[in-house]
Amino acid sequence: MRKVPTRGIPETWKTGLIEVAPKVFAFVQPTGETGISNAGLIVGSEAAVAVDALMVPSMTRRFVTAIKKATRKPVAQLINTHHHLDHTGGNRFFRSAAIISHVRCREALAPGFPPLPLLQRFMPRFAKEFPLMKVVLPTVTFEDRLVIHDGQREIQLWHPGGMAHTIGDAAVYLPKEKILFTGDIAFHYVTPLAFQGHVGNWIKAADRLLAFEANVLVPGHGPIGTKADLKKMRDYLALVRREAKRRFDAGMSAEEAARDIRLGIYARWREAERILPNIMRCYQEFRNELHQPLDLRAMIEGMERLRGAASDHTCV
Ligand SMILES: [Zn+2]
Ligand SMILES: [Zn+2]
Repeated sequence: MRKVPTRGIPETWKTGLIEVAPKVFAFVQPTGETGISNAGLIVGSEAAVAVDALMVPSMTRRFVTAIKKATRKPVAQLINTHHHLDHTGGNRFFRSAAIISHVRCREALAPGFPPLPLLQRFMPRFAKEFPLMKVVLPTVTFEDRLVIHDGQREIQLWHPGGMAHTIGDAAVYLPKEKILFTGDIAFHYVTPLAFQGHVGNWIKAADRLLAFEANVLVPGHGPIGTKADLKKMRDYLALVRREAKRRFDAGMSAEEAARDIRLGIYARWREAERILPNIMRCYQEFRNELHQPLDLRAMIEGMERLRGAASDHTCV
């Protein structure tokens, strides 16, 4: 196996509730792997705003406990950055809050979470908690932009236009504090997963976020960082899309392409086998078939095969 450099890739990082500006917090979970996302808390003059609700009850309870330690003010609004269950699974713990999302996020969440056996196979470590989860839909939706005003503070919600990581992404931007909660438009040192996304548009969305005046980025997965970290993820997507196109044109299958593409430093990012769904979505993009959902079972089985293969996608 080729030796892949690890320089600059954090093994671990600071977790828990971290104050990134006065009264603005990131709630960061370890590893950032499948189902293990980050959240946020913005404490205002009368009430607080939470960004994402995490997934299984044990996670959201830890987040809620941390919120209660940080403030006595109620959470009046909860923002869902997109419909994935690692960001919306805990919505029911914020019953008294208005739940705000992009209109497409609410639509995507409405049919419910993926089937239980599939979730349990995909994320076995949370198998016992999945039956406890219940879908709670957003109560307020927006299409393009939304601003929450609280005294001097502005909380801007921004949708990239069209499908990026998902059909209904929202980033949360604090212009005064120059902080971005990106949702899953940014993954830091964890391989981004495009199984319901549009890789070409996601690259454009990342470019547009990179143009924001922001000093601190709280990604959907991985450690708190800066735009330099988002740029690395953007370059991963560009690499995968470029290399996928060459192999698509050569008639290679998505799985053959996944085994063939050399990821270099990105082979050391967590969950490198996600290259397969990322290529599968690129292939759908090239065929103009992105409206068709990816077969989740085929995706999970392919990733399992890839994880077991001796390629530079799976170095541990
Ligand atoms: Zn996520
Ligand atoms: Zn996601």
